[in-house]
Amino acid sequence: TNATHDEEASAKAAAASADSGAPTIFDKIITKEIPSSIVYEDEKVLAFRDINPQAPVHVLVIPKARDGLTHLGKAEARHGEVLGQLLYAARIVAEREGILDGFRVVINNGPGACQSVYHLHLHVLGGRQMKWPPG
Ligand code: C5P
Repeated sequence: TNATHDEEASAKAAAASADSGAPTIFDKIITKEIPSSIVYEDEKVLAFRDINPQAPVHVLVIPKARDGLTHLGKAEARHGEVLGQLLYAARIVAEREGILDGFRVVINNGPGACQSVYHLHLHVLGGRQMKWPPG
């Protein structure tokens, strides 16, 4: 069907962009060319509200330097420090947002997980009862 065809085409396009290392919209959020609602920022990490929130609290945590991390699948040993900083920043965000007693951290990796922006990001979700399994 056309729907299947479209899904296949968009999955292929997504897979291609995953490997291209092309700039993403997050570059402009990092440089503040595009405004965002910043929740936390330090030298290495930026956390800002998702424009299409899936929960009352939905914040994205990203490394300011992508350094090859289009997606988690590209992680190497040298990325260990920044990966830790991202996870710790997620905890700071949860505390600032008052959701420490119930929050979820999600990384969508690749077309099969509906990743849409190829600059590594953690989703921090909360402010409602989170269900399991996720979709
Ligand atoms: O994990 P995934 O790649 O699908 O997540 C990308 C997220 O980035 C989406 O939740 C989308 O709403 C968000 N986004 C955003 N601001 C943009 C573009 C995308 O918050 N300008």
